Amino acid sequence: MTAQIIDGKVLAQQVREKVAADVAQMVADGLPKPGLATVLVGENPASKVYVSSKQKACGEAGIESFGHYLPADASQEEVEGLVRDLNADPRVNGILVQLPLPGHLDEEAVLRSISIEKDVDGFHPINIGRLAQKGRDPLFVPCTPYGCIYMLEKIGVKLDGTNAVVLGRSNIVGMPVALLLVRANATVTICHSRTRNLPDVVRSADVLIAAVGRAQMVRGDWVKPGAVVIDVGINRIDDPTHPKGSRLVGDVMFDEVKEVASAITPVPGGVGPMTIAMLLNNTVRAAKHAQQVPV
Ligand code: NDP
Repeated sequence: MTAQIIDGKVLAQQVREKVAADVAQMVADGLPKPGLATVLVGENPASKVYVSSKQKACGEAGIESFGHYLPADASQEEVEGLVRDLNADPRVNGILVQLPLPGHLDEEAVLRSISIEKDVDGFHPINIGRLAQKGRDPLFVPCTPYGCIYMLEKIGVKLDGTNAVVLGRSNIVGMPVALLLVRANATVTICHSRTRNLPDVVRSADVLIAAVGRAQMVRGDWVKPGAVVIDVGINRIDDPTHPKGSRLVGDVMFDEVKEVASAITPVPGGVGPMTIAMLLNNTVRAAKHAQQVPV
């Protein structure tokens, strides 16, 4: 079997076009443009790249972006003070504090200081708590996990009753994606660094989400024939045949797994593009909420 390759670039572009159309409609209706504030603390090069690509994507969708930069030694009070100002600014509908924060800062306290109405990353403890509770709905769902579920829905996977395995239990990917799968009525197993017999557990999955950050860890013989595989991992490996001497790979050995799975996301070009698309989607949702426009 050769798997269907799930094209994240195409799916993300569709979401971005819908967001741009919604923004244009809001402006045509005389409403202000949605606005996203980004907060970057310090000089982490990867974080700088992520923030600038989020700002660029906002511009393309007609969303205003407000970039805020604080030095690496910024105090807790400075960061939270900035977030409070952004909470009060009516031009700002979404606030994104780029993670990770420098080690001296209390990340949870910063995330908690974001107004839940502007928590477009979905990491506020109240939004995450609601995600974990039956019958409660978060205002926003974290972008990467949301992107994973969106892709599954778009290719027609019916999650109800399936066995889903999530590799990884991080706050930003593994745990929220597992909570979303439970909400979609999958039976979910969450694996982590202490899981025993990992290949056997993974082989039980009808749907596998890999988010461990270990290059090409999931091999072809770990995967149940016909399973659907979403590879969240982004890992750089040496490759002397590549012009840059290295290339990006996922947590899944793509060439092996695509021969066993029924559908699989590539890296790059799979989950990655969905993350930004979902951030834009959440920002427009926040703006509609603020303007009392139905979402
Ligand atoms: P973390 O490092 O925060 O979490 C990794 C998780 O994997 C942990 O739960 C860890 O277990 C588990 N793990 C690590 N090694 C093993 C192992 N050998 N066997 C089983 N479990 C293991 O990573 P993130 O969740 O932040 O990111 C995961 C990957 O996804 C990374 O490659 C990252 O770059 C990528 N990513 C991609 C995004 C996108 O937009 N596509 C967005 C965010 C992340 P334990 O808890 O026991 O330590």
